Amino acid sequence: MEHNGEMIVMGKSVTLTDLEREREYCTLRFEDGQSFKLDYVELRLGCPCAKCGPRQENQQRLIEFREEVMRLRLDKPKAELVGRYGLRFGWLSGCSSGIYSFELLREISEKSGSIIN
Ligand SMILES: [Zn+2]
Repeated sequence: MEHNGEMIVMGKSVTLTDLEREREYCTLRFEDGQSFKLDYVELRLGCPCAKCGPRQENQQRLIEFREEVMRLRLDKPKAELVGRYGLRFGWLSGCSSGIYSFELLREISEKSGSIIN
């Protein structure tokens, strides 16, 4: 199937090759050469865990979620590689069960990060 073939190619191109954590943001580098600077607030807002996921489902809930996250002290999270497909971030402010697939990290980066060279 042609569609499946395309997805495999895309999956390859979103492999995360490097993560640098600074105090307030991180730099993500992907296999296709694209790099992004991403604020921890944006990363935290994209958390896919069972607790945070439902808070992103509509605009109103997302606004409330953002206000709450902005009030937290977002210290540099712990990051742990999960297999070959994702990362788990451990936030001091509580949440640590969400696994961010590389696809999701790329999606958040393209939406909320800034492209760097
Ligand atoms: Zn979460």
